[in-house]
Amino acid sequence: MTPKLERAIVNCFKVRHGKQVVGTDKTNLVGASLEELTSVVQDLSEPSYRARQIYAGIYCRRLRSWEQFTDLSKGLRKRLEDAYVIEYPPVAKTFESRDGTRRYLFEVSPGQKIESVFIPEEQRETFCISSQVGCAVECLFCVTGKLPMRRNLSAGEIVAQVLSLEQCRGCAPKRLNIVIMGMGEPLHNYENVMKAVRLMTDKEGMAISPRRITLSTSGVVPQIKRLAAEPVIPNLAIALNATTDAVRDVLIPINRKWDIATLLDACRRFPLERRQRITFEYVLIEEVNDTPEDARRLVALLEGLRKKINLIPLNADPWVPLRTPSEDRILAFQKILTDHSITVYIRRPRGQDVSAACGMLAGRDQAQGDLLHPPPKPVEESALARLGL
Ligand code: SAH
Ligand code: SF4
Repeated sequence: MTPKLERAIVNCFKVRHGKQVVGTDKTNLVGASLEELTSVVQDLSEPSYRARQIYAGIYCRRLRSWEQFTDLSKGLRKRLEDAYVIEYPPVAKTFESRDGTRRYLFEVSPGQKIESVFIPEEQRETFCISSQVGCAVECLFCVTGKLPMRRNLSAGEIVAQVLSLEQCRGCAPKRLNIVIMGMGEPLHNYENVMKAVRLMTDKEGMAISPRRITLSTSGVVPQIKRLAAEPVIPNLAIALNATTDAVRDVLIPINRKWDIATLLDACRRFPLERRQRITFEYVLIEEVNDTPEDARRLVALLEGLRKKINLIPLNADPWVPLRTPSEDRILAFQKILTDHSITVYIRRPRGQDVSAACGMLAGRDQAQGDLLHPPPKPVEESALARLGL
């Protein structure tokens, strides 16, 4: 590769990061707030209403090149073009499941891949988006947790997943739900995730109702408390996944810091609007957390909370040495909950054949995981022994 070509490629990735190196490349404005755009136009000695036009162009009109900004003068477009770009991370590959679910593999930096998933349904469509490259929580049952934690995504990289998927989906828009349930622990990347939520919900911008956005967390309690005080709050989903601390400590290591009682206390204090509920996700794992006693403990633990429960039968993967319960066990677990008048759904896997289902996201550039490529962080035998497996 010639040095010139190499420099061009490196600069191209710098642009995608939103970083600016004086004299060599341009700043990416995807992810910029209105205030940040106001200082951009001030630097160009333009009136501040220009910032609103640019903001509406990027987030509301979803424009991707300066020539599309026909409400700006040619001269201003040229000056913007010289210093700024509107870039989404490039889609490296897409995988389409038999059930219509699509996994999008984005290369956010050289060698760093993240995924978003498009899940079409009859009445609505869901975009599942990532918040980090990797995840530091290292849950035993989750493939993302087997990757090294590389970095947080910027607010621009988070909103760009939604903008990209909207443009790629290839079917008429339906009711859109955004779930921040892809790679990463969103509350470990609090500032950027919340900036992205503000951009997505701003009526002048992407105008997605906060009630159509769900943030799922493994239980980072201090940040749940911080979220509770935000002016714009998405729906909250808690990946509970166990009914005793002994089991949750092994499945979700941060439980050793914030145990089940502490987590549920934060949930009880979380503000909810009328008819709003907290979703508790419960990944069912055979002989680990799927017994009738677990179901009864779950009822008792969640007593008095405004909630619904999503039971997610474990998505099996070569990297995860755990098993999915039989259909009988899943239904028996559900029945104990419904007998206590709890709203409970069984989340059937979507996109499993292309590794797009919950907990299967590993930035793989093949459709499925395989045993030839072992996980970077293998599961410790002692963890399985503590679960009696
Ligand atoms: N880090 C956040 C969001 C991403 S994980 C969180 O943990 O909540 C999103 C959901 O996928 C969580 O409910 C998690 O428990 C679930 N999940 C992880 N691995 C899974 C697997 N192998 N099978 C089924 N669900 C899984
Ligand atoms: Fe991270 Fe969520 Fe996977 Fe746990 S389940 S490793 S928190 S992405």
